[in-house]
Amino acid sequence: MAFNIAIDGPAGAGKSTIAKRVAKELSYIYVDTGAMYRAMALYFLRKGIQPEDETAISAACDEITVSLSMEHGEQQVFLNGENVNSFIRTEEVGKITSAVSVYGKVRQKLTQLQRDLAEHTDLIMDGRDIGTCVLPKAQVKIYLTASVETRGKRRFLELQEKGAVCEMEQICEDIRGRDEQDMNRKISPLKQAEDAILIDSSEMTIDEVVDRILGIVEEKCR
Ligand code: C5P
Repeated sequence: MAFNIAIDGPAGAGKSTIAKRVAKELSYIYVDTGAMYRAMALYFLRKGIQPEDETAISAACDEITVSLSMEHGEQQVFLNGENVNSFIRTEEVGKITSAVSVYGKVRQKLTQLQRDLAEHTDLIMDGRDIGTCVLPKAQVKIYLTASVETRGKRRFLELQEKGAVCEMEQICEDIRGRDEQDMNRKISPLKQAEDAILIDSSEMTIDEVVDRILGIVEEKCR
């Protein structure tokens, strides 16, 4: 049976940075499910479908194929065969993603794909509903969070590094909005699974969080 590690948590908690490092240490595959939702959102954006139009979005789901591959240790996301990695990381796509990932049809499509990936592969998967819905039997579940201020500051520095002009207040506001939407949707809202271990990384370094998770995995394997 494959060993699965689920990491859930709000935007900007550091899930992908941490999950990538843990995957490397354990020689596991890392699956970023947010990228899959972002690829679907990109499709709707390109087609001019409004995020509020559930009927059009549900119908369009049948036209979409999302797939993944690994290149040089980095996950690549394909939307109907096109590598869309370089288009999905914008704030605009992030906001639309959060708005369209409330729909059942969107979630069903990706949940099945994620379960198939995890069935026979040792992996670490991050997202919002991995421990609660996608992989309820994952051997290790982590709920990684941090204060809005810490997450806002991390995003701010990340964006600044990329040369973007941004305001700290606006970023914190966007994070609050995304938390609100992800935590309060009807289907698979973001919440800590009952058997997940909570890690608040507000006052922790990346190394400390990685070590903590590796310790939890080691304990579980013993
Ligand atoms: O993690 P990332 O910021 O890339 O996720 C973008 C959005 O995708 C989230 O705000 C959330 O609305 C949605 N998402 C989700 N379920 C997941 C992963 C992401 O609903 N498993």
